[in-house]
Amino acid sequence: MTAGQAEHAARWSEPRPDGKIACLLCPHACVISETRPGKCGVRQSRGGTLVLPFYGRISSLAVDPIEKKPLYHFYPGSQILSAGFVGCSFHCRFCQNWEISQATSSGTRFMPPSDLVSAARREGSFAIAYTYSEPLVHAEYVVDTARLAHEAGLKNVLVSNGYLNPGPASEVLGLMDAANIDLKGFDEQFYRVETGGSLAEVQRFLSQAAGRVHLEVTTLVIPTKNDDPAQIEGIARFVASLGADVPLHLSAYHPDYKYSIPATTAPAILELAEIARRHLRFVYVGNLGAEECNTNCASCGKLLVSRFGYDVKVVGVTHGACASCGAAVPIVGLS
Ligand code: SF4
Repeated sequence: MTAGQAEHAARWSEPRPDGKIACLLCPHACVISETRPGKCGVRQSRGGTLVLPFYGRISSLAVDPIEKKPLYHFYPGSQILSAGFVGCSFHCRFCQNWEISQATSSGTRFMPPSDLVSAARREGSFAIAYTYSEPLVHAEYVVDTARLAHEAGLKNVLVSNGYLNPGPASEVLGLMDAANIDLKGFDEQFYRVETGGSLAEVQRFLSQAAGRVHLEVTTLVIPTKNDDPAQIEGIARFVASLGADVPLHLSAYHPDYKYSIPATTAPAILELAEIARRHLRFVYVGNLGAEECNTNCASCGKLLVSRFGYDVKVVGVTHGACASCGAAVPIVGLS
């Protein structure tokens, strides 16, 4: 915290008779004392109040292609101002962003909500993405900023692990226009041991998000850990239950943080994508380098959007429909 910057009080908390404070934000339900922050590391007790010493502390700020979130069916080819924070409610042993998610000591700068909105307008971005580390442990800041962003005519995009209780989830989702949520596996034990979270809770959040925001789902495919064909098929079946046109991104893992398992290979992930396509119309692979990753019409198969790396061209869409057969194209933001 810098001089002159007031410490923010947390919402979604409840004092307890023993002097500790219960955090009601995520399913971890931490009971927080003066000497020990919550599991996410960013919500702390001071003088009987739950406070947010990292409110508005931005660890990373960049203008990214929206395909990097990844969102393939939301304003394809656009650029989005993306803000990252510190801390996380999960402790994934394979985290690919662990320098900012598993520590609170990374360098940050304070940006009140109005500054982030101004930055988005200055950059000519149509939206703000809350991303990189876990934005939901900063739900108060996300809500404050997203509200201002909407007032300024900007859209909001959430990139998250989807670990949030239903009450705050309703408020956050009500201010989002799109979300990419991780579904890290389809096995409760994998979630518990490797991430510290819960599959059932993430499924509940995904069900709450479906139909309320434009939704896409990402699974980081880790050899020997969650790449069993039955597990990928379970993921695809569940995503299909959220909506037949919800895109699933199967993303290649590389060794990082506590994992030294060799990286996912292209043939392996392409084979798993074929399995997922038994249930879903739009399955994409990512993180393999500058690969081709096109969207074709689900009715006639003609090319709609060509992608090579972040080179994106909308080629076969007229007035939101396939230029070849006229079928509706389930992509937001196409003219
Ligand atoms: S948001 Fe943080 S402090 Fe609150 S319950 Fe979740 S992990 Fe614990």
